Amino acid sequence: MQTDLFLPVLNAPETARPLAPAEAAAPRTHGAKLWQPQRVLFTPDALQEAYGQQILARAQALNLPIELLKSNRLTGLRGEDERATYRTAKTTLAVVNAPAGALRLQPTPPSADYQLNLAEGCPAHCQYCYLAGSLSGPPVVRAFANLPKLLENTQLYERPGRPVSFEASCYTDVLGIEHLTGALAETVKYFAGREGARLRFVSKYDHVDSLLGLPHQGHTRARASLNAEPLARQLEGGTASVEARIQALRRLALPVAQGGGGYPVGVVLAPIMPLPDWQQHYGQLFDRLRAAFDFDCDLTVEFITHRFTPGSKEVLLGWYPGTSLDLDESTRAVKRNKFGGLKYVYDLPTMKELKAWFYAEWQRRFPNAPVQYWT
Ligand code: SF4
Repeated sequence: MQTDLFLPVLNAPETARPLAPAEAAAPRTHGAKLWQPQRVLFTPDALQEAYGQQILARAQALNLPIELLKSNRLTGLRGEDERATYRTAKTTLAVVNAPAGALRLQPTPPSADYQLNLAEGCPAHCQYCYLAGSLSGPPVVRAFANLPKLLENTQLYERPGRPVSFEASCYTDVLGIEHLTGALAETVKYFAGREGARLRFVSKYDHVDSLLGLPHQGHTRARASLNAEPLARQLEGGTASVEARIQALRRLALPVAQGGGGYPVGVVLAPIMPLPDWQQHYGQLFDRLRAAFDFDCDLTVEFITHRFTPGSKEVLLGWYPGTSLDLDESTRAVKRNKFGGLKYVYDLPTMKELKAWFYAEWQRRFPNAPVQYWT
């Protein structure tokens, strides 16, 4: 049952059914509930780290069920079947040390120069989640206790000439777990002291209070991941509503003197899908953004169309068998990467139509907010 899957989930998405026009027109406004994992596991190595001890103190203060593991391996995470494994994993936080390989940073174009992974896994339940094809094993949230080492390591990648950018949101939603880890605040403060580096993160959560008073020196770009209201409503479980994300981004962008964070900010429109009446729905989203950003700020936008791989489709259908997400290969174009892997994207005429519309409508409303890329 689709509904079983979302039993432990707050703000779960609606099951697949057509939206009535009036329903689709009324934006939701709820914030995300703070994630309360049902198990918090600590490996011995993680507890050797001062930062791991800080996470332990947070978990204790929140009265979360804590298990101190005897080994650094995470075992026993699988349930009776894939659905049970998913349910258990999505309510488990494991505090571990990132492996040595995590110090070899991977490029992540077009979003940033390099990945900087503070954690892997995410407590939300987006039915198109890109993690399905990228992370292997049960989707447990792993927070990295050797954070100071990961941060210091970024210095090796700085280059003279221009600041090097690091993306913290490749494999997690950093804000969704920030109340448990504090990692994002630590990272923002660290990058404030690095002239040669810039931090980027993106989130579907709205808990930004802990970021507002931080010294960031403009070195962190805070972004919100947004989508058309019907898509967010049907496909994004456990996240803040689109409206709450917009308002959170507004607070991050407002000048410090006005009680805001004074951050450079950004909108990530993803994944863009040509749903029925897509111009109307995305147009309404742009109008809401225009109303919220009625002051001068450093705002950018990134446009990412929906795509999937054979692997991600298989995992997603295991996690969300009743999904309304369009995963029909026959309507898509195939794109191959240099290693022979393939992904399914929209065909060229659809891409051209979408791109022309999104650029025009964005630039009309936000002439001073550059488009960083379309993909
Ligand atoms: S918020 Fe992002 S990482 Fe988390 S489930 Fe949704 S798409 Fe996946």
